[in-house]
Amino acid sequence: MAEPYRPAPEIEKLGDADGAPFYDAVAPASFPDHIVRYRNQRWATKVGLGDFTQDQWIAHFGKFEPLPDNLSKPLAVRYHGHQFRHYNPDIGDGRGFLFAQLRDEQDRLLDLGTKGSGQTPYSRMGDGRLTLKGGVREILATEMLEAQGVYTSKTFSLIETGEALERQDEPSPTRSAVMVRLSHSHVRFGVFQRLAFEKDEQSIGDLVDYCVRHFYPSLSDLSGEAKVTALFQAVVERTVRLAAQWMAAGFVHGVLNTDNMNVTGESFDYGPWRFAPTADPNFTAAYFDQTGLYAFGRQAEACAWNLAQLGGALSRIADTDALNTALKSFGERYEEVMADAYFQRLGIKRTGTDDFEFVMALMRWMTETGAPYEQLFFDWYGGPASQSRADTGRVGELYTQSKFDDARARLLAFEPVDEKRLAHDYFKSKRPCTMLIGEVEEIWDAIADADDWSLFEEKLRQIALMRDAYGFDASRYLTG
Ligand code: AMP
Ligand code: MG
Repeated sequence: MAEPYRPAPEIEKLGDADGAPFYDAVAPASFPDHIVRYRNQRWATKVGLGDFTQDQWIAHFGKFEPLPDNLSKPLAVRYHGHQFRHYNPDIGDGRGFLFAQLRDEQDRLLDLGTKGSGQTPYSRMGDGRLTLKGGVREILATEMLEAQGVYTSKTFSLIETGEALERQDEPSPTRSAVMVRLSHSHVRFGVFQRLAFEKDEQSIGDLVDYCVRHFYPSLSDLSGEAKVTALFQAVVERTVRLAAQWMAAGFVHGVLNTDNMNVTGESFDYGPWRFAPTADPNFTAAYFDQTGLYAFGRQAEACAWNLAQLGGALSRIADTDALNTALKSFGERYEEVMADAYFQRLGIKRTGTDDFEFVMALMRWMTETGAPYEQLFFDWYGGPASQSRADTGRVGELYTQSKFDDARARLLAFEPVDEKRLAHDYFKSKRPCTMLIGEVEEIWDAIADADDWSLFEEKLRQIALMRDAYGFDASRYLTG
C-alpha cells in the first residue's frame, strides 16, 4: 500500500540561521543531460514518492528542485574523520548534500542525500561528481545487502548526467551520474569528531539531543551525561551488529573510515566494496588498502576503533569511564551478535549453547576448504531441511568429506526457522545469487562497451528473487 509523503526537515532546527556549525546551504550542479537509469520504486512507494512522473523524478532527483514543504536548499553537512587512522579535518560533504528529510510509516526520520550533485565548500580539489560506474556499483551493493538482511541505506535514484569525468582508477574519460540515497540519517561519527575538534560542547549536546529524539527515542527521558552515555551505548550495539552482519554476508565495505560510519549503525557509502568469494580473513576490497587494515576479517576491529573515536568526541561532555564501559560492551556482545547474524543467514534457530563456537568452527572449515561463501548459506538454509539439497548440490562433495562431519552433525541438530521458505523458486536453482567482482565488472563492461543494461537488469531481477525468498525485514534492526 502506498504511504503518504511526510516531509520533516528536522535538521533545520540544528545550528544558527546559516546552519553553523552543522551545515552550509549549497547549490546543485546543473547537468547537460538527465537519463534515469534506476528508480527505486519499492522504496519510493514506502515514503510517498512513488507517484512521480519521470519528469518529476528528474526535476527532484536530477535537478534538485526542492520537495514540497521540505528543505528549501540542499545542505552540505560538515564533518571530519579518521581516514585509514589519520585524522583529516578537511573533509565534509564534498560531492553530496542532504536534499530532503521525511518520515516513514513508523514515524522514523529518513534522509534523502546525494552523491555526485556538484561542488561544495568541502570539495577541495575534487569535481563534486560521481562516475556512472560508481553509481551502478552502489546500487548493486545496496540491493544485494538488503536481500541478505543487512541493515543498509537504499539507493533511491541514479540519473546519468552526460558529463565526461577524469578518474585515476577508471579508464577515462568516464560517464557521470548523480545518485540519491535513502538512509536513516547522515550523522556520521565524523560529525561529532568535528564538533569535538572545535571544542564546541554546546553543539555536541545539541547533536546528541537530535540523535536521541529521532533515532533512539526510547532514550528521550534521560538527560545530561546519562543521555550521552546511553546514546553511545546504543550506537555501540548497532555497530557491533552491523559488523556481524557484514561478516555473515561475506561483505567487505572497503573504506571503514569514521566519516563512513553512521550513528544509526546503518551501512552506507559504497566505494571499492567487494563480496568475498571465500572465507579468507585477509581478503581486501580497496586496492589502496595496502596493509589490509579494512580486510574482511578485520572489520569488527575497525568498527571498534571507530567507536573509540566517537567515544573520544563524546567525552567532552560525558564521563570517560562511563563511555569506556559502554565501549567494552562491543567485545562482550560480539559473540552473541555474530551468532545471531550467522544463524539468521542459515535460517536456523539459536539454541544458546555453543552457538558462537559452532559459527567459528564453520568459518574455520570454510577458510580451510575455500568453500564458496554464498553457496554455503544457500545450500544449508534451514539446516536439516536442506540436507539432501546440500549433498546433491554443486559443491556437495565438500559436504561429504570427513572434515565436514562435525559441522554437519551440528547443522542437522538445529531447527529451521521457516522451512516453508525452501519451497521458493530461488532454492530450486543450483547456484545462489552472488555479486563477485567478476560479475560486477561484466555488468559494467556491457554498459560501458555497448550501453547494454540487460545484465544489470537481470541481476536486479535475481536479487529480487533472493530478497523475496529470504523475506528479511530491514526495519527489525531498529527495534533491538
Ligand atoms: P569517500 O571516500 O567517498 O567517503 O569521501 C571522502 C571525502 O572525499 C568526502 O569528504 C567526500 O565528499 C570527498 N570526495 C570524494 N570524491 C570527491 C569528488 N569527486 N569531489 C569532491 N569531493 C570528493
Ligand atoms: Mg564517504
